[in-house]
Amino acid sequence: MSSAFSPTALRPRYTGRFAPSPTGPLHAGSLVAALASWLDARAQGGLWLVRIEDTDTPRCVPGADQEILRQLACCGLLPDAAPVYQSQRTAHYQAALSRLIAQQQAYACGCSRKEIETVWQARAAQRPRHGELVYPGTCRTGLHGKTARAWRFLTVFNRSNHAPDQQNIAGAAIKNIAHTVSWHDRRLGSQQQDVAQEVGDFVLQRADGLWAYQLAVVVDDALQGVTHIVRGEDLADNTARQILLQQALGYATPQYLHTPLVLATDGQKLSKQNGATPLDTSAPLQALNAAAAVLQLPAAHGSLGDALAQWTQAWLLQYRV
Ligand SMILES: [Zn+2]
Repeated sequence: MSSAFSPTALRPRYTGRFAPSPTGPLHAGSLVAALASWLDARAQGGLWLVRIEDTDTPRCVPGADQEILRQLACCGLLPDAAPVYQSQRTAHYQAALSRLIAQQQAYACGCSRKEIETVWQARAAQRPRHGELVYPGTCRTGLHGKTARAWRFLTVFNRSNHAPDQQNIAGAAIKNIAHTVSWHDRRLGSQQQDVAQEVGDFVLQRADGLWAYQLAVVVDDALQGVTHIVRGEDLADNTARQILLQQALGYATPQYLHTPLVLATDGQKLSKQNGATPLDTSAPLQALNAAAAVLQLPAAHGSLGDALAQWTQAWLLQYRV
């Protein structure tokens, strides 16, 4: 009998992915997310994809993609299909943005960062989260003579009505309808966020023409058929925005599991900025055991293959869907 694999005919229901940015080699923190997503896919008999998230081109380091793939291979984490590069998928992002514009769920914004700051100062309102400014919605009613710089997602769209007419976009008819997004995280439990209040109308395409992380991730996950997203907890805060985009684009919402972070000595998330060293791939089992401990999986011994098989079994007990 032929065992030829036909991805369209025999695609398993489960499709997971690991989506690193090629800003440097993998470190102890990024290996946790890689291992967790691989184990979840294996435990559920699914596909595991790797997507190189290189949309933020100024931050990308040449060759880092190849180094990440080499490090993953050293750890026995091999993708089930050739890696996909976001930098080669701009036509998909443009098509999605065009759809959102046609649906009047995206609008051009002409505000500089300075202008957004000024609005907040004038309101003397509380400064938003993470030092990141909640966009005050200035350009919802049009550019008022300014030049379009970025495209933003309209978070106050009334989804219970039909698409709003142009007066709604250009005039006062837009109401602040509560848009609390609720979802279930397989590790963190019940989550919710009011995107309009807590984030505001977020950017889809930046003033420099680069695609925003939110749009690229949502489009790629949908087009790659991703059913389960397993990634670091630092990305949990993006989930509500991504669910709003999925709904606006008519995509299914995947299941989410956000993994614990590895903290640096300063208590911050371990990153290249605070001294994370590249994985030592001369001792892959040691690196994997450290990652497994973060995931509360028992230490494993023997060959790399044996260890991965032990963790796959342990994962099923720990993170059963
Ligand atoms: Zn604006």
